[in-house]
Amino acid sequence: MSLTHASEQLEAEAWGSARAQLAGLPGGGLNMADEAVDRHVRQGRGSVVALRFVSPGREREDLTYAQVAARSSQVANVLRDQGIQPGTLVCLLAGRMPMASIATLGALKAGCAVAPLFSAYGPEPIRDRLLAGRASILLTTADLYQAKIAPVRRELPNLHRIWLMGPGATEASGPGIASLDDLMSAASEDFDQLSSDPQAPAFVHFTSGTTGTPKGAVHVHEAIVAHLATGRSVLGLRDGDIYWCTADPGWVTGTSYGLIAPLACGVTSVIDSADFDPIRWFDILEQERVSAWYTSPTALRMLRKAGDAAWQGRDFGALRQVSSVGEPLNPEVISWGSAALGRVIHDTWWQTETGAIMIANSPGMDVRPGSMGRPVPGVEIRLARHGPQGERLAGPGTALDFTDLPDEPGEIAIRTPWPSMMRGYLHDPQRYQACFADGWYLSGDLARIDADGYVWFLGRGDDVIKTAGHLVGPFEVESALMEHPSVAEAGVVGLPDPLIGESICAFVTLRAGWAPSDALAQQIRAAARQRLGAAVAPRRIEFDASLPHTHSGKILRRELRSRALAAGTSPAGPSP
Ligand code: AMP
Repeated sequence: MSLTHASEQLEAEAWGSARAQLAGLPGGGLNMADEAVDRHVRQGRGSVVALRFVSPGREREDLTYAQVAARSSQVANVLRDQGIQPGTLVCLLAGRMPMASIATLGALKAGCAVAPLFSAYGPEPIRDRLLAGRASILLTTADLYQAKIAPVRRELPNLHRIWLMGPGATEASGPGIASLDDLMSAASEDFDQLSSDPQAPAFVHFTSGTTGTPKGAVHVHEAIVAHLATGRSVLGLRDGDIYWCTADPGWVTGTSYGLIAPLACGVTSVIDSADFDPIRWFDILEQERVSAWYTSPTALRMLRKAGDAAWQGRDFGALRQVSSVGEPLNPEVISWGSAALGRVIHDTWWQTETGAIMIANSPGMDVRPGSMGRPVPGVEIRLARHGPQGERLAGPGTALDFTDLPDEPGEIAIRTPWPSMMRGYLHDPQRYQACFADGWYLSGDLARIDADGYVWFLGRGDDVIKTAGHLVGPFEVESALMEHPSVAEAGVVGLPDPLIGESICAFVTLRAGWAPSDALAQQIRAAARQRLGAAVAPRRIEFDASLPHTHSGKILRRELRSRALAAGTSPAGPSP
């Protein structure tokens, strides 16, 4: 079945109307930060609040479009004055704080590509991503520097500059360390060398595959066309909206839909600096009068778990549109949303590589609970058939064999190109090429499409794990486990978990001389948490005398998972 909003003309129209809303730069240029921020100032909307930060103590800090424009220009001037060339990868390791958003936009203005890193990772995943990015400059906070970078700094010889933001930045010292605030103090609020190539890299988002090191998906300035289009057509953003995206800025959703899309649409984006807390979240929805909300199934399930008293009697009258992404959205959660929030939750689907929402239940659509919706205008989806071993099947004279039968499973494929399509994996052209065939991008996700064109998620075609909305590569976890002196081999899988979707479970074989015990399992788990961070470490360690292998010696994770499910291995363990 070819699901398409279709002809090239329609495709051009879909993205064309977003393009027409953008200002552009002379000579066909385009800069994401200029379009997201300064365009609104030039068009007389400088006094609108762009970013509303809510501090852990619930104080608000509002930044208008004019203020964000001025301060991001200062950052751009600092980068230029310090000799950071356009095209340089600027890595960013920070929580939800004003300077992180401003620095991101400033780097984009200066033509640098920004690589946001997840601040809950332990030192090792951060080191591996900095190495994969060959990073020479990192923007972070004094606390994160001490906790995550200092322990691995000696392994990062290319990391020459570390600019600190927020508390303690000015007092910190060390090789290459400077305070971004200090650097900005004398910088002009006008920046006149705006980078303008629409195809220049803007973001590098690291993501995981089944094997190997993390992949850096490269996205370009032109991606803002898709952010603007889907911000309006899927998230329903309109003038005057108070919008809240709950995703962490270290993941693609937190940047694309926490920063760029709402700014492109000219709305006020709420950014909560504190960690998840159900009462706090209901308070923010109610008291900030959030009108459009983009969140995840895990967060919704946790809110539901908080009990009816947490939401009863509250006024969510301002809330118009609720959307979800990242994992399957259970129908029970949709029913809960209708009762608690008074709104139907709209599921959406996309991934790091697609750069923007590709499939959605858009406002006004008849939502079928359990379905991810239909392709957004401008996107054409087909399902590529797989064989019994999960291998892609070829068609007559073609690399792919598509199914046109309703409800027949296949791999979600997207016709190339679209504006936010990744343009490469950093320093890894072969892995990038392997994602495409016959002009289609292959997502690795399995789905079926019903007779009315609704797409239903069936699972991943590979071994990556989605835990609490975070994509985790089993190889990375296995490697960290094998650093423990007792571990000979490890196989890591995701097991179904009612709250966080999948829970990470590790099966390990021990080296000679070590015996399984609860104490050893605790020790291995604690060591993994230290290295990887709690969000990525296994919740459960199982000892297994012989892990299943393929003929070529690779661990058969799928068999491990089936065995665990058959044995009723409970993924339950302490919360992360
Ligand atoms: P990431 O690249 O980290 O954003 O993760 C993308 C992956 O998350 C997709 O390939 C899917 O496996 C999963 N995913 C995203 N949205 C949904 C959804 N609505 N339903 C089910 N799985 C989803």
